[in-house]
Amino acid sequence: MSQVAAAPLSASAPRALVLSGARVAIDPGHALRAVLLLRGGKIEAILPGDEPPAGIVDSADRIDLKDHLILPGLINVHDHLHFGLFPRLGRGPYPGWREWAKDIYRPHEPPLRALLEIPKDARLWWGIVHNLLSGATTVCHHDAAHPLLSDPAIPLTVHLAFGWAHSLDDPEWKNRYAGTPDDWPFIVHCAEGLDAKCRREAAKFKRGARLDDRAVFVHAVGIPRRDWLMLQAAGVWIVWCPTSNLHILGRTLPRHLLLTYPSIALGSDSPISAAGDLLDELQAARAMYDLPPDLLYRMVTTRAARLLRLPLQYGSIASGGPADLLVVRDTGQTPSDSLATLSRGDFAAVLHKGGLKAASSELHRQHRDLLQALNGPVTRHGCKWYVAVPSDALAIRTEDDCESREALCAEVTNQ
Ligand SMILES: [Zn+2]
Repeated sequence: MSQVAAAPLSASAPRALVLSGARVAIDPGHALRAVLLLRGGKIEAILPGDEPPAGIVDSADRIDLKDHLILPGLINVHDHLHFGLFPRLGRGPYPGWREWAKDIYRPHEPPLRALLEIPKDARLWWGIVHNLLSGATTVCHHDAAHPLLSDPAIPLTVHLAFGWAHSLDDPEWKNRYAGTPDDWPFIVHCAEGLDAKCRREAAKFKRGARLDDRAVFVHAVGIPRRDWLMLQAAGVWIVWCPTSNLHILGRTLPRHLLLTYPSIALGSDSPISAAGDLLDELQAARAMYDLPPDLLYRMVTTRAARLLRLPLQYGSIASGGPADLLVVRDTGQTPSDSLATLSRGDFAAVLHKGGLKAASSELHRQHRDLLQALNGPVTRHGCKWYVAVPSDALAIRTEDDCESREALCAEVTNQ
């Protein structure tokens, strides 16, 4: 097993970049044909039409994205990045997360023993890779901060401006809440189970903290029907992680709640309990409940930005906003319909702060000169990618095949 060295990363600001020839998502229902000028990590200008005005490309690189649609980079409100290499563990359903955790936590047995020996920064890198290759440019890591996660050279934003406790079982949770700055959210797993203890957790939170729009409850599956109006009136945010809930509990939030509760965003949770990444969650949500595409779109863009209290314009494409973008094949649909029906093969590129951080093999071939800093290929779900991730972090997986987490797990276990 290779060790991941403190690989030198380049955090230098990319040159200005012009993206031309694509349709650009303005909101979930509309896209317009426009040229984007990216500079200094932001979208400097959105210029209608296919061609940039004369002179504008003189000091910029240019990528022609004919037949592509540019979406805002997605925002994943819940993950545990250090589990990025783990397989899904446990055989539910369980009454709640405590039983699941007790069942899977066997650190001295395969596969956990070998996985836990992998350096933490390598595991974090793979959490980052999973998010990047699902189109996420911002992810909330629900765990202790790690120096890697605030390195400006990592290819996405790991949001760290929030208070948190793992759950209300943490004897320190009230102190953690009290120590959280007033303008940060406080994020906690709450009611991840259907047993009596889980069902009382919203009330427990209310007794020990303020029930308001800074409170973020992850999962909330066991919250009794009578408590939902109270949470809605207080503005409490909910993180919905459908495939993790189905794996652990055999059920998730009901469809009517997702349609009517105004403050729900979508999170991937980690591969240790969930299907894999944010795109898997979008696809599962769509397949399970046939939710309106514009609702799903907002759950991973503007709503997610509000939950995390990100600066204005995160989760959208706007002049002066962050140049965090997801480029996909244009199927002629609205942005929200495109996202809801997106397949892995539709992905072309992910940009973070105006720099190309992931590119399909086709785009990489066309713009090898601009994308020479990317490493790969990384194979995921049958698609080859080049990514702004150190090659020694990628090498933690054998050759270029990271198709199957189960295969990796067996491989690691046998070493
Ligand atoms: Zn979680």
